[in-house]
Amino acid sequence: MRETTSTCCYCGVGCGVIIEHDGVQITGVRGDPQHPANFGRLCSKGATLHLTASASVTRQTRLLSPMRRLQRGGPPQPVSWDDALTHTADELARLHRAHGPESIGVYISGQLLTEDYYVFNKLVKGLLGSNQIDTNSRLCMSSAVAGYKATLGADAPPCAYDDLQHAQTVFITGSNMAWAHPVLMRRLEDARRANPTQKWIVADPRRTETAESADLHLPLMPGSDVALYHGLLHLLLWEGLVDTGFIAQHTEGFDALRDRVRDHTPRETARLTGLAEDDIVTAARWFGSHTPTLSLYCQGLNQSSSGTAKNAALINLHLATGQIGKPGAGPFSLTGQPNAMGGREVGGMANLLSGHRDLGDPTHRAEVARLWGVPEVPAKPGLTAVEMFEAAADGQVKALWIACTNPAQSMPDQATVRRALERAELVIVQEAFATTATCAFADVLLPATTWGEKDGTVTNSERRISRVRPAVPAPGEARHDWLIARDVAQQLAARLMPERAALFDYPTAESIWLEHRESTRGRDLDITGLSYEMLETRGPQQWPLPEGGSAGRVRLYEDGHFATANGRARFADVAFTPLAEPRDARYPFSLNTGRLRDQWHGMSRTGTLGRLYGHEGWPGVDMHPQDLQRLRLNEGDLVRVRSRRGEVLLPVRRSDSVKPTQAFIAMHWGEEVLSGRDSAGRALAGVNAVTLPSFCPQSRQPELKHAAVAIDKVHLP
Ligand code: SF4
Repeated sequence: MRETTSTCCYCGVGCGVIIEHDGVQITGVRGDPQHPANFGRLCSKGATLHLTASASVTRQTRLLSPMRRLQRGGPPQPVSWDDALTHTADELARLHRAHGPESIGVYISGQLLTEDYYVFNKLVKGLLGSNQIDTNSRLCMSSAVAGYKATLGADAPPCAYDDLQHAQTVFITGSNMAWAHPVLMRRLEDARRANPTQKWIVADPRRTETAESADLHLPLMPGSDVALYHGLLHLLLWEGLVDTGFIAQHTEGFDALRDRVRDHTPRETARLTGLAEDDIVTAARWFGSHTPTLSLYCQGLNQSSSGTAKNAALINLHLATGQIGKPGAGPFSLTGQPNAMGGREVGGMANLLSGHRDLGDPTHRAEVARLWGVPEVPAKPGLTAVEMFEAAADGQVKALWIACTNPAQSMPDQATVRRALERAELVIVQEAFATTATCAFADVLLPATTWGEKDGTVTNSERRISRVRPAVPAPGEARHDWLIARDVAQQLAARLMPERAALFDYPTAESIWLEHRESTRGRDLDITGLSYEMLETRGPQQWPLPEGGSAGRVRLYEDGHFATANGRARFADVAFTPLAEPRDARYPFSLNTGRLRDQWHGMSRTGTLGRLYGHEGWPGVDMHPQDLQRLRLNEGDLVRVRSRRGEVLLPVRRSDSVKPTQAFIAMHWGEEVLSGRDSAGRALAGVNAVTLPSFCPQSRQPELKHAAVAIDKVHLP
């Protein structure tokens, strides 16, 4: 029996795992007691990783050889890697020549490793000559990125997990961390046990398990977060709880914001949010006086048509009270996916460049071009996730290369996404699992390795870089994602720009990481002092860790110097704006979506284990008992949930976790168990048949947390 130390492949907590195996099969997994994210703990998903990687599951779910459709509509046929790579490169080169670089869209994933991300990003921006690469992290974290940059000057979460134990007030807003980040929740529970004076405020429209454990639950109306934060700032000013010294020394732009929040009185805030005035006052007092105060937040803020404003308005509260840059204080965004952070570090999005550089900055583009040895990096931003699929549905994007993600289930407005996948001339799906809905649209299927087989690094929510190590060989003919991207890049270069083939001469994952490391030199996330060897000997490290350093920095901005040009943090004078699609007489329910405790994304891995259905065994729409009574519904009745874009049929579940006129459907269930269709009657998968593609104008993150829907009983014959 052998053991290999690695990292869990699910959420952004980034727990360390020890994989037990015999060199061929993974036989067990346990938490790594040395890993500073989890100290040996695992949640139900992490603790069953070995079962989802068993030989019998692999035989049923994995994509084990390259395949391609020899004609559209025909069945995919197994082909050799040579054939698959040659065909892929031939077709991409043909479309590139015929329609230009922007006819190709590459859509990747926050579940790829940093090394995978780096090669994909360089392939698009350094070889194809466009910025048409985006990631499912756009659906997850891009509002947090935009919020940090707008206020603190850099996409850098300033806090660390250790802050949980130093905080006196913990403001959890837009996060059900008890289910979405379970091990972090256990750490928070430990902190409250050790310090019974610690208070938790949870702002969430639903009474989630996290909200159940709060000292104060603020069940605000969907989309009213900015109104709440402005109302809290109004009270902090009124009660003299702002830190005028910190504001004067370390910030700018406070006067405009102070004027804006003048009208956000407790009464007005109560009207806009639906909260009790007394609760708003209590929250403000705890936030401003029971300090240090730590905010933890996630998709409730990010997945919104005003996601950047929500993030920035929350950060305003920390700047106004000086609750940042010290133990137990700060705005701490939790990342949903295991490597959303690493993807941002390499600039793997349509508007970013390597090393947290901005595409819009000519100096930054020149630096990256020099690093890569190319004449230039194009200035025009690529299309972001929703836009890319809309452009493919319109016929402008001709090729979609999708890696390690399942847009035919996870993207909003499935009718458009499926039109895109049908209309594109070439759909390449690079995947470990043959079972995703997107695989059914692929012209070319490229089998990829996954957890237990991959080699590289990931970065978790607290900026900590951990190694992902292979324990067993890849099954069948599966190959590493970076290797597939490298081989396609070299073949494409041979067809389009032979002199650039050498840019992708990577023999190992580490060789890619070393180039990425160099791209961070002098940047806020400088990791030039870090190496695979140091990760081996000293364990996971937080960034920055510049050359000569011996350990990463735990907490940022401790000296009050921010990452802006003048070192001052910027207050964001943002307006409260209503939801993109408010409910009305035709669509009278607010539909919310989110995670379950024991499932992950489209369930291609967790859905293979019976025991993970023990917590929630069937898909349902949660509705308040009053609404059930009004609509004459009983638990288990089949209902039709309709929006302007499509509908889903599923059973109703009685729940007082949602308020009257609100409803909730978990994001995980797909077409196997949740039937849906678009307004033209075509079959669709999952809750995203009804969600809307509206997105935040700054972050371009779609509003997955709210859609206006109608709910009617289905009368079975
Ligand atoms: Fe994996 Fe997240 Fe669970 Fe940790 S908390 S074991 S990273 S899913």
